[in-house]
Amino acid sequence: MKTNVFIRPLHFGVHSREFGCNLKPMSASLLTLTMLAMLAPQESVGQNHGARSQGTPEGSYLRAADFRVATIVHRLATRGTAFCDATHPVTGFLLHHLDEYAHADRAEAVRRFGLDKGAGVLAVVAGSAAAQAGLAAGDLLLSINGVQLPRSGEPSKSSARDHRKVAEEADALIEQQMRGRSATLEVSRMGEPISIVLKPVIGCAARGRLARSSQANAFADGRYAIMTTKMLEFVQNDDELAVVMAHEIAHNLLAHPARLEAQKVPHGILRGIGKNASRVRSTEEEADRLALKLLWSAGYDLGAAIPFWRRLYTRYDPIPVPKLFRTHPSLSARERLIRDTIGQLSRSEAGTR
Ligand SMILES: [Zn+2]
Repeated sequence: MKTNVFIRPLHFGVHSREFGCNLKPMSASLLTLTMLAMLAPQESVGQNHGARSQGTPEGSYLRAADFRVATIVHRLATRGTAFCDATHPVTGFLLHHLDEYAHADRAEAVRRFGLDKGAGVLAVVAGSAAAQAGLAAGDLLLSINGVQLPRSGEPSKSSARDHRKVAEEADALIEQQMRGRSATLEVSRMGEPISIVLKPVIGCAARGRLARSSQANAFADGRYAIMTTKMLEFVQNDDELAVVMAHEIAHNLLAHPARLEAQKVPHGILRGIGKNASRVRSTEEEADRLALKLLWSAGYDLGAAIPFWRRLYTRYDPIPVPKLFRTHPSLSARERLIRDTIGQLSRSEAGTR
């Protein structure tokens, strides 16, 4: 299959600090992730392209990797509500915006997706509220309840720091408009205006994105759980992918980035020293516990967690570091916590039968 490769630089570090679930020390390059967005117009994954799936293969430009991550985040969010206090309307669609593309690629993004006219629907999760309402990948979203979606700036004017701004503003607007009520979406489909009524499904406040990067990493910025394409290559199946995303989602649900900020835990090398390290480690343990509960609720194989962490530590963190300097639990501590939590969940399940 011929695929065009776009360079899509997204600068997460500008708007949000990476939270550092990476096992290697955070490198400066992560502050300016370089994204490679693979646009494959002929790619056909999933059955939820709505009207465009029949006889219009050009319209089926859903991207397999984004779709896969979105589907897993959606499943964790919608089934895990018993374990999360922070909830929000879960829509089941992902948008992409002109600002997220490198300047050199924007003409192509406009030609192919019409992103100069609105936000593009990048992926629609099968069975989600969006799929049921009839939204399809390739649609352009213009407004919600009459409120226009934020527009991408003039390409010549937008700077690197704007790359994620429009995307995050659009997500926030949609959540705000859908809180406790249905929303009417004004959509352009192959140039034709249509209205779609979307009924909210309340789920955990989980937002996930795939970031193109050659570094295997995943992080949480308080709102988004983000994993890199390199990490996506590393996971062996959907259960492992869910382990990664559930862990990052758990950090956000537990407001860990804000807590560490309030505790003045610094980034960089001082993060791994003394009290700072132990504060970060305790967030890691809490995230692991909640992640297992989310995975359990969503019906993922909890048995995937330990083999995944073992492979990750072996590959990226082969040299044990003294506990005083570790921001992450040792592999043995992590395995112990996972076994204990799975034991508790199994007992609670047995108790409810
Ligand atoms: Zn973590």
